[in-house]
Amino acid sequence: MMELPETTTIARQIRETLTGRKILHVIAAHPTQQTTFLSAAVENIPVVLGEKVVDGAHAFGSYVRLNAGRAALLMGDGVTIRYHAPGAEQPARYSAMLEFDDGAALTCSVQTYGALFAFLNDDHENVYYRAAKEMPSPLTDAFDRAWFEALLAGAKPSMNVKAMMAGQQAIPGLGDGCLQDILLLAGVHPKKKLAKLDAAQRDKLYTLIKSVLADMTAKGGRDTEGDLFGRPGGYKALLNKALLKGPCPRCGTPIAKQSFMGGSVCFCPSCQPA
Ligand SMILES: [Zn+2]
Repeated sequence: MMELPETTTIARQIRETLTGRKILHVIAAHPTQQTTFLSAAVENIPVVLGEKVVDGAHAFGSYVRLNAGRAALLMGDGVTIRYHAPGAEQPARYSAMLEFDDGAALTCSVQTYGALFAFLNDDHENVYYRAAKEMPSPLTDAFDRAWFEALLAGAKPSMNVKAMMAGQQAIPGLGDGCLQDILLLAGVHPKKKLAKLDAAQRDKLYTLIKSVLADMTAKGGRDTEGDLFGRPGGYKALLNKALLKGPCPRCGTPIAKQSFMGGSVCFCPSCQPA
């Protein structure tokens, strides 16, 4: 799943690759792709985006927004975004495809569910998109120590760290994947209650949220995710599925996995004591 380092990278790559390109055709909801959308509004993608010229792209949390005049295509959780050069083979399955005046194409593919919307004049009320747009990004100076302390103070003390930091999108674009590495480096267990965090741990978490997300972004995302061209990012994830049976990259203790809150958590029992 795309998180802030990947959406920021893909938005930059869309700006660099597609700015000035005219959208000639849009094919939405390709019949060979079985998908369940969070949005049922994919049918309006051709109407909204057809004949428009791409003039930018931005990342808002875990969303990438492609801009074309007054129109926008919003691609979020669960969507794989890929560029196909003129003449390159295009995938057989996709949920939406934009074809450009130079023969290039952009496809959006969804595995089980995905957030894919098209709208005019930023007239879009998806609550997660709105929050991601309005909350300070951890990649900016607006996300400072005071803001982080206010987020913690505003959450229930009985809440656990994972739920507060990745479960509510209070920190735009920080999801389970990036958080796993941050918590390992901070030495904080994902199930730890907010009330049990001491000042030094809060300090470490704040510093690492900023520095790890910035590092992941500077390196073009994590190596567990693909960029606009399908290449893995340059940040080597410390905790990922392939490493689950392996040792902790910090101390060598076997990584533990537990089911938690309808998903699972991975952690080092030694670096991140309960
Ligand atoms: Zn460890």
